[in-house]
Amino acid sequence: MPTLTSAKKSPRPAARVHGRPAPELIFGDLWAYDPAPETADPKLKPRYELFIGGKFVAPASGKYFDSINPANEQKIAEMALGGAADVEAAYRAAQKAQETVWGKMPGKERAKYLFRIARLLQDRAREFAVAETMDNGKPIKETRDFDVPMAAAHFFYHAGWADKLEYVAPGRKVAPLGVVGQVIPWNFPLLMLSWKIAPAIAMGNCVVIKPATNTPLTAVKLAEIFQDAGLPPGVVNIITGPGSTGGLLMAHPTAAKIAFTGSTEVGKVIMRSVAGTEKRMTMELGGKAANIVFDDAPLDQAVEGIINGIFFNQGQVCCAGSRLLVQESVADRVVAKLKNRLRTLRVGDPLDKNTDVGAIVSRDQLATIQGYLDIGVKEGCKMWQPAGRLPTKGFYLPPTIFTGVTQSHRIAREEIFGPVLAIITFRTVEEAVEKANNTPYGLSAGVWTDKGSRILKMSTELKAGVVWANTFNKFDPASPFGGYKESGFGREGGRQGLLDYCQLA
Ligand code: NAP
Ligand code: MG
Repeated sequence: MPTLTSAKKSPRPAARVHGRPAPELIFGDLWAYDPAPETADPKLKPRYELFIGGKFVAPASGKYFDSINPANEQKIAEMALGGAADVEAAYRAAQKAQETVWGKMPGKERAKYLFRIARLLQDRAREFAVAETMDNGKPIKETRDFDVPMAAAHFFYHAGWADKLEYVAPGRKVAPLGVVGQVIPWNFPLLMLSWKIAPAIAMGNCVVIKPATNTPLTAVKLAEIFQDAGLPPGVVNIITGPGSTGGLLMAHPTAAKIAFTGSTEVGKVIMRSVAGTEKRMTMELGGKAANIVFDDAPLDQAVEGIINGIFFNQGQVCCAGSRLLVQESVADRVVAKLKNRLRTLRVGDPLDKNTDVGAIVSRDQLATIQGYLDIGVKEGCKMWQPAGRLPTKGFYLPPTIFTGVTQSHRIAREEIFGPVLAIITFRTVEEAVEKANNTPYGLSAGVWTDKGSRILKMSTELKAGVVWANTFNKFDPASPFGGYKESGFGREGGRQGLLDYCQLA
């Protein structure tokens, strides 16, 4: 990272940097700026179809929608607009695969397909990273170092389980549920897809899944890998299309279980639509996590954790540390350090390997976030953003912090899903716990302190599915993830995640 001091002393350079055109967006230290565009070919097709019964098929409606690159507002490709007839066909294909092939196949045979998928994804990792960055707007260093390797890791991890399923529930008989319907959001498109598909198929279930309208690209590209891996037709079916198609997919009578990741609002609509049926359900919904910094914490490390907690993936993370609870005695120091560090973050072209903060996923999401900035200011909180210019094209927002926030402010209560941090102070451990738990959500929390006993106390008292200590946003396929309260129910990942995909006898 360049230092702040040199950035401050330097006058803003004119049009060119190191002989190349200066980036439109200028945050951080420009003198040290050396554009490093990712050059791997995302191997895009002009049009993508649905993936049903192992084949790419045109949607019954004959209609397509554009997937847009939020970094420059350009069309990436046309995607099939799936509807009721396609959902029907996908469930038929899945049911057939379930009954004739996948449900009967020994676990050790199923494992081979999952291993193959994981390896093929690794082989095409750079291509997938570029495609994902283009479709979602997240920085290439995140897709390259996190999203794609973690997606492969979910297939590897669950491949390892497929021939050891009797240990998911020792002493009980474990069987697949049948066909599973899944709907996922746009913030980690490929990762969510893998996170949902891998445990389901490792357990012997077949899948019908819908990615988000904003980010359908890597889902259909993963279908290419399913074909190359020789995955039997119908084991996984991918339907791109709007939210209403997601509704049909969730309510379909063939689905023995549905798994949804998305907003609490849509989660509730889905729960109402399947109430009274025998469907099993897991819901991974919203969050408003507290990242809690005590005065004995290593503050520089904590500042890095705060940044990672809320600016990773432009803050569009369900478990983002969107509320910083900082002990009053160190609050001024932490905020000063945070501002200094924020001035060095590079906001801009997601395909540049130096970029720290990329584009917001869509114009609508940007408008939602900007709406919250207005609300924060109107309600009397103090907003701060590092100085810099944003590109004229694309959906960008500088990292933003609010001080003077109390628990009653809307920016402290509602999920913003953007690079916006609400900073609240506290004095005692009890006050930190009370404030952290004072939310309808309960997905994650972070604790920064030197005291082990305090970490144990906090992790017991915080009502959150994941509590990170002296770190934030760390994930592993072996580690169960899920919520308390309005953040949902059921767990994904680890042995616990597999329990949600099987029938116990
Ligand atoms: P969203 O609006 O709830 O959409 C999620 C998915 O549901 C999309 O595929 C969407 O399709 C689909 N959908 C919309 N309406 C539907 C309906 N009536 N029935 C069935 N499906 C429907 O959420 P989002 O804005 O994409 O994602 C952000 C939210 O997801 C945040 O609240 C975040 O906290 C949550 N999230 C939670 C987790 C977790 O693990 N807990 C992880 C990531 C995100 P379209 O895209 O076509 O509208
Ligand atoms: Mg897109």
